[in-house]
Amino acid sequence: MEKKTAKDTGLDAFTQELRQRVYGVGEEHDKGPLLKLDMADKILRFCQANSLWPMTFGLACCAIEMMATGMARIDMARYGAEVFRPSARQCDLMIVSGTVNKKMAPALMTLYEQMPYPKWVIAMGNCAISGGPFAVEENYNVILGVDTLIPVDVYVPGCPPRPEALMQGLFKLQEKISGVRHPFPQTPHPPRENSE
Ligand code: SF4
Repeated sequence: MEKKTAKDTGLDAFTQELRQRVYGVGEEHDKGPLLKLDMADKILRFCQANSLWPMTFGLACCAIEMMATGMARIDMARYGAEVFRPSARQCDLMIVSGTVNKKMAPALMTLYEQMPYPKWVIAMGNCAISGGPFAVEENYNVILGVDTLIPVDVYVPGCPPRPEALMQGLFKLQEKISGVRHPFPQTPHPPRENSE
């Protein structure tokens, strides 16, 4: 395959070179399984969607909202995604929560490569999506969108997005994985006796 230049792909020279170094040029990554069993695949996807293991990985202010999503008020544990793992090798979800600068980019790509397949990525916040407030002419150090480095499945806009927005992103990802909207409606708490 003909070697693409930075101009062809719309990426800046730094990002282009980084991608070539980590992934190679024209290399296919997700070729899918050799054997495909539809029913087993469906059940597997259902299980995967409801037991996502995110990486303990925060880059800037958006990470505070991500932490809040795991705490009691929002409690993402209700939807099977509370097991934040300290090792990339145990994760299947990377939530890119914050500004990705050029110094961090190789580390981020290494972590993504260390995650086993199947794996998913949520770009949380405007910085991760497009550089956010740093997408200005004077910027020399911020990557303008993490999707120039790794594939992104769901984008959660905001500066920062509230925990509810991250939950919406999580539901969207679950829908993308399993093909149906999860979770099922939760059983409401029974009314308290003698409550006015
Ligand atoms: S999007 Fe806003 S809140 Fe999130 S990391 Fe960037 S500047 Fe901070």
